[in-house]
Amino acid sequence: MKVKTSPECPKCGHRMKRFPPGRKDEYHVHCAECDYDFGRFDHFQAQFRHAIEELEAQLHRHDAEEDGRG
Ligand SMILES: [Zn+2]
Repeated sequence: MKVKTSPECPKCGHRMKRFPPGRKDEYHVHCAECDYDFGRFDHFQAQFRHAIEELEAQLHRHDAEEDGRG
C-alpha cells in the first residue's frame, strides 16, 4: 500500500511511501520512488504515529466498502 505522508525522503524528496501489508515488526517502510529504507515499521510507527492512524483509517474505510457490497 502506498501512502503520501511526511517525512520527505532524504534521497529523492518524495513523500510517497510503501507500507508493509501488515503490522509485523520485521517489515520495513520504503520510499515508493527510490526504495529508500526508512527503517523498521515498528520504529516508523512510534515516530510517525499520525501516519499510521491515517493508514488505518484508510484500511477501515476499505473494509467497510468491501462489506457494503454484495
Ligand atoms: Zn526516495
